[in-house]
Amino acid sequence: MRLSLKLSRIKPSATLAMNAKAQELKAQGKAVLSLAVGEPDFPTPDHVKDAAKTALDANFTRYTPVPGIPELRDAVGGYFGRFYGVTPPREAVIVSNGGKQVLYNLFTALLNPGEEVLIPAPYWVSYPDMVLLAGGVPVPVPTEPEDDFLVSVAALDKARTPGTRVLVLNSPSNPTGCCYSKAQLDAIMEWAVSRKVFVISDEIYDQLVYPPTEPASLVGWWEKHPDCVAVVNGLAKSFAMTGWRVGYCVAHPDLVKAQSKIQGQSTSNVCSFSQKGAVAALTGGFEYVDMMRENFRRRRDLAMKIVSGWSGVKCPNPGGAFYLFPDVSALYNERTPDSGTLCTRILEEALVALVPGAAFGDDRCIRFSYATDDDTLTRALTAVGKVLLG
Ligand code: PLP
Repeated sequence: MRLSLKLSRIKPSATLAMNAKAQELKAQGKAVLSLAVGEPDFPTPDHVKDAAKTALDANFTRYTPVPGIPELRDAVGGYFGRFYGVTPPREAVIVSNGGKQVLYNLFTALLNPGEEVLIPAPYWVSYPDMVLLAGGVPVPVPTEPEDDFLVSVAALDKARTPGTRVLVLNSPSNPTGCCYSKAQLDAIMEWAVSRKVFVISDEIYDQLVYPPTEPASLVGWWEKHPDCVAVVNGLAKSFAMTGWRVGYCVAHPDLVKAQSKIQGQSTSNVCSFSQKGAVAALTGGFEYVDMMRENFRRRRDLAMKIVSGWSGVKCPNPGGAFYLFPDVSALYNERTPDSGTLCTRILEEALVALVPGAAFGDDRCIRFSYATDDDTLTRALTAVGKVLLG
């Protein structure tokens, strides 16, 4: 089969191999526990489901405008006004099929062949491959566990070349859970604006931030410099709506038009009744989000208590999302010299599925998700500890 050359540069999802192995063990009757999931374990709140059901019953089942129904674009503006004091107008908002499509459209709209994209590592798995698909060149910028895996202006400046076009920031981060403070973001933005580097700020976990850490958004910077920033968010993580496929973006109206052009020739609008559910989510009460946040905070503390007892392992205490990303490289040996072999061994011996750090651009680490119940979390981490230290 003859396929496009650009596909040969794209990696298949790294979690798939681990999932396949976990399924194989499950089929053999083994009780595999998974700490590999990237989605809340809570159901979508009832008021959101009810809004989608009402929309279906009212036959709201046809094509909608490509960038989203006006009431959802306005609800997105209202969300930023409610939490960050800036209310972007409708023409600065586009709704796409998940944060994933927002990012894909942004890279496609912004990049010319060969232009470079700075991606602080560890990074969310899809960024480099999306950049490659859009014809750009991903440039990972390494960070250290001692710095909570946060990138410094000095490291960014060192990685910048005349070909640098975009910087991707992700706070809270997948896979580390670490968050930039407002002051750190301000320093990076001063640098980016002065160097004409466009910043894509992926804020999909902004509702899952645990006090005393404070949520921070770049929407204020977007308001001041609309041609330098795009803010990406979505309903997947904050409202347990991963399957609904609703993401959104605040950007310069010209960039929104470009994204809409791409989306209009690929997927058109987001599912009509998902959009109605999203309106209910963004305009309704946030008590459910508060409940999830509190549960994730408790589980973060539970998981950190166990992981911080593992000698030789370095793990920052994350301020958000639902992941831990410990540096376990001090425990590597001949049999398990990297994160991939270590995760395979943990799966076989502890029957716990994790994701190797290599998939996120940092082979020193392994990723745990704590989006699971307390009992599973405790049993799984205890079993992993036995393999690591035993
Ligand atoms: N950005 C980050 C950092 C993520 O972790 C994810 C999902 O795992 C996404 C974007 C995409 O989310 P979705 O397309 O489900 O809205």
